[in-house]
Amino acid sequence: MKTNILILNCGSSSLKFAVIDPTSEQEFISGLAERLGSPEAVIVSKFQGEKTTINIADEAHDGAIAGVLDVLKEKGLFDTIAAVGHRVVHGGEAFTASTLVAEDVKKAISDCIPLAPLHNPANLLGIEAAEKHFPGLPQAAVFDTAFHQTMPAQAYLYPVPYEYYTDLGLRKYGFHGTSYRFITASACEMLGRKTEETALLIAHLGNGASAAAVLNGEGVDTTMGLTPLDGLMMGTRSGSVDPNIFTFLRDQKGYSLDEVASVLNKKSGLLGLSQISNDCRAVEEAAAEGSKQALLTLDVYCYVLAKQLAGLAIGLGRIDALVFTGGIGENSELIRRKVVELMGIFGFKLDNDLNLKQRFGAEGVITAESGPVAMVVSTNEELMIARDTASLIK
Ligand code: AMP
Repeated sequence: MKTNILILNCGSSSLKFAVIDPTSEQEFISGLAERLGSPEAVIVSKFQGEKTTINIADEAHDGAIAGVLDVLKEKGLFDTIAAVGHRVVHGGEAFTASTLVAEDVKKAISDCIPLAPLHNPANLLGIEAAEKHFPGLPQAAVFDTAFHQTMPAQAYLYPVPYEYYTDLGLRKYGFHGTSYRFITASACEMLGRKTEETALLIAHLGNGASAAAVLNGEGVDTTMGLTPLDGLMMGTRSGSVDPNIFTFLRDQKGYSLDEVASVLNKKSGLLGLSQISNDCRAVEEAAAEGSKQALLTLDVYCYVLAKQLAGLAIGLGRIDALVFTGGIGENSELIRRKVVELMGIFGFKLDNDLNLKQRFGAEGVITAESGPVAMVVSTNEELMIARDTASLIK
């Protein structure tokens, strides 16, 4: 029976995939094709707890999808696929929700390429390769930006000449929207609250990181902006810095605009400040061994995060819960402890035992009974894409 959803998440040189039954929410297989276009290209898949690696030297997206299809055939999953759900990074102002793919949808995704020059072309390649290899199957596009389209103009406009917005679409868009939708539903269910009556601050802390203010189920503000560089300090991204850093580094180091952008995207954040790693676990380990630079890096990370969460609270008016998610949010008791302490100004009181308990897949509240709630919720963007795709093909 064809009831499963194939989820494809195409990056510029990688492709993540999963097959999920949207009814039972069971994930049958997941995997990653990486180093696409290089002699080292591989597909790594996990099926029934077993990992398999297949070489697909020099293959790009099209070849990788053909390879994934072979894996699905071998595991007896190919004939169970009812539809393909694609993660698409940028939907601009054109998409406020997930949609079935048609020619006009592909054109609109293509029109958003100037807003996401690395991601949207890869997403389109994934859609076109899937159309070729799964002819006749419905395909859905699920946008990172769609959730935030409910932001009011006062939150999304930048104080720059207004024609840049009207002519070029220069505004705050926000990302990680699929995760925010999933977390909003899960957190409200765990709290026993109605989504339409809940004010949430959500911190999605992975290698890329952002936070969002969600009022009554709708995004009202977020930290990422025109691009995913803005906002919080991340693994290798700086987050918000003085925009004049561009001219400063040009004058002081002779860098081009592209070189400064590359430093801010790839050599900053945890990696740049710690000079140890972009990986939070490695920085925490160095701090535990006494590295002052690692300690300073974690202090900056938490201070920036708490300060931006406090700013987002303005868009909410009140805070019913602060939710941590993503690899760091779901596992790092240290980052959560420091941030909840800094957020003490709002009345948060950490329960240390609960904070230590809610890790490695455990979810729940980490604060004492008095005061507002802080909690850990595991995100699952693939499942959200599967749910959306299933409801679009009904
Ligand atoms: P993601 O992009 O959501 O997979 O998150 C990746 C980030 O989560 C990396 O910076 C990891 O170091 C971090 N992470 C995962 N497990 C832990 C942990 N136990 N403690 C601290 N950070 C962690």
